[in-house]
Amino acid sequence: MATLRQSALLIAQGRQRTFVNPPSSKISDFFGSHVFGIKQMKESLAPSVFKKVMEAIDKGSKIDPATAEEVASAVRVWALSKSVTHYTHWFQPLTGSTAEKHDAFFDAHAGIEKFKGSALVQQEPDASSFPHGGIRSTFEARGYTAWDPSSPIFIFDKTLCIPTIFVSFTGEALDYKTPLLKSMEAINAAAVEVCQLFDRNVKKVIPSLGVEQEYFVIDKALFATRPDLVMSGRTVFGHNPARGQQLEDHYFGSIPTRVKDFMVDFEIEAHKLGIPVSTRHNEVAPGQFEVAPLFEEINKAVDHNQLLMDLMDKVAEKHSLKVLFHEKPFAGVNGSGKHNNWSLITDTGVNLFQPSNSARENLQFLTFVIATVKAVYDYADLLRASIASASNDFRLGANEAPPAIMSVFLGSTLTSVLDELEKNGNVKIEKGDNMYMKLGISKIPEIILDNTDRNRTSPFAFTGNKFEFRAVGSSANSSGPMTVLNVIVAEVLKSLTKDIEKEINSGKEKKIAIVNVLRKYIKESKKVRFEGDGYSEEWALEAEKRKLSNLKSTPFALDVYHDKRTVDLFSRHGVLNPVEVHARHEIMLENYIKKVQIESRVMGDLALNHVIPTAILYQNKLIENANGLKGLGLDNTAAIETVKEISRHLESLKKNVYEMTEARKKLNKEEDIVKRAKGYGVEVKDAYFDKIRYSVDKLELVVDDEFWPLVKYREMLFIK
Ligand code: ADP
Ligand code: MG
Repeated sequence: MATLRQSALLIAQGRQRTFVNPPSSKISDFFGSHVFGIKQMKESLAPSVFKKVMEAIDKGSKIDPATAEEVASAVRVWALSKSVTHYTHWFQPLTGSTAEKHDAFFDAHAGIEKFKGSALVQQEPDASSFPHGGIRSTFEARGYTAWDPSSPIFIFDKTLCIPTIFVSFTGEALDYKTPLLKSMEAINAAAVEVCQLFDRNVKKVIPSLGVEQEYFVIDKALFATRPDLVMSGRTVFGHNPARGQQLEDHYFGSIPTRVKDFMVDFEIEAHKLGIPVSTRHNEVAPGQFEVAPLFEEINKAVDHNQLLMDLMDKVAEKHSLKVLFHEKPFAGVNGSGKHNNWSLITDTGVNLFQPSNSARENLQFLTFVIATVKAVYDYADLLRASIASASNDFRLGANEAPPAIMSVFLGSTLTSVLDELEKNGNVKIEKGDNMYMKLGISKIPEIILDNTDRNRTSPFAFTGNKFEFRAVGSSANSSGPMTVLNVIVAEVLKSLTKDIEKEINSGKEKKIAIVNVLRKYIKESKKVRFEGDGYSEEWALEAEKRKLSNLKSTPFALDVYHDKRTVDLFSRHGVLNPVEVHARHEIMLENYIKKVQIESRVMGDLALNHVIPTAILYQNKLIENANGLKGLGLDNTAAIETVKEISRHLESLKKNVYEMTEARKKLNKEEDIVKRAKGYGVEVKDAYFDKIRYSVDKLELVVDDEFWPLVKYREMLFIK
């Protein structure tokens, strides 16, 4: 057998467990021990200083230098007590991963450990190599990071990490966090106005997020033998194993021991960091798993998800495993997503997506549900663009994944409530709850749960007391889609308030005004609601009839960032200015091009250096065999047929790899980045990836297993 594959298999098969000892049998004993959060601040800061920090967290007010100095001093003492030597600003540039640059507390000149308030509040990382989409010209390469006190400081790998935003010197956002924080303000402003129609006490609305994270795990040695996995995160070749997920025995099955040890281990580390992970289970595909935390305020939840991914990657190393966050690491089995469970919660403790026993509250509940449905309808293309990436393209629209069509699933109970309201909504104001009864909204069960509510094929589903955006890619930073969701719902809530005011000004009673506007919105957004099987072909056809977009490829989906409507939307809510929108569009296109380019190169290399030479070796064996048979006067047609078959695949493989390289060369000269990205999508990826894969996967079936150099699907997916 090809030596690398063989030795990797031997290593993988001989692995022992890495046992894990939790610091205590009770998680509460160590939960948050590596976090300098509100509790620690309260304990270590003077009350007046603590009050100022809390104001900064609640109201976004600026922290003055004296306060910063006090906090830094307390943080330093805490960090040193935990044997921490370095600190860093921790931020989320548009590369998709997190960034850090470590500085020592130790000041050699002074001979002591130091940490100044100014170092806590602001840093100037030499950031010229982060993506900026033309915002930063090379002569002004400076950017700065600024402390985000609303997300707690933590210790990771003996380094104190300070969550920060990352902006250019001219103030434009160069990261994911800045627009997310601004979108939280936008939806807060819009949602509070609407809440005030129902309850004057509501002063603040905060979006919440719980991210269910799917991932694959394979043995580290097997991972290392696959250049495609190493370079691009997915297998560009590989024939499906005889047994895939058709037995449906993996989902919720017992977790393989080594993976279980790994889970226990990263959960311990996550708990130390205050990440409230609570759920673990197998996912649908062999080798696929899921972790989910309890939901948190959206900014914290995003930070925690980014941190968790980083953590999982590091802890996997200890167990000789590799975590794959790519959306589609293996063709033919399920891909991975990041289900973003989103809701809006008031400072009075009400989840605005929680139906209740009170009819009045249900009118408020429906207002928010209908506004969200309308937002998805009005801005479906923008929502689609928010989850677009080269890697997610392999999952969206693939057989088992959410389709690239944005639709909303509400479940049978809510659907009938909305239908009733649309039909019978023309009511007069009556005493007590009569009006609500006539509207059919007096009794919405507090917990909406029936079997249809478990529709897993919808990209955007109402799940009882929250919406679940399932089309987000497993490797994505959730900030992108969550920023868009916050903004589009804010936009609809704003227009809703205006429309209600208009009705009221024309003499309508408030409740009637609200109902009238809701009815209008239900009608206008009806087309985006779909309760059936989102993975079926019929739905794609039906969606086309309804004129819903089905943008399967990223560079085309991203066109919406060009639209004035998009640019205006972001500006109007103070989330991104036109320059920032333009820059983000460029960065996403650039990213797409690079990803496709890398995959295309990996394919070429593997085909030319691994697959073709191996097939020729085996072909020579067959030729020997054919000659031998002939010498004995025996029938050698079978051998000759196989020789011919191999030749056919080799020819088409060589031809396609050559042509694909030519297509890349041509496109690399294209100046217009939109055209270049689309070209890479259509003329490189669509034109060649499947064809090349087809030949290689056929050869894998023909060539003697002993010869085959690439670790096979069955080996990666089933050896644990
Ligand atoms: P499933 O979707 O598999 O039924 P759960 O209902 O347990 O799983 O929820 C999945 C995720 O949704 C968890 O992270 C959970 O904390 C989160 N979640 C629950 N309620 C809310 C909410 N009101 N807002 C945001 N996320 C929520
Ligand atoms: Mg879910």
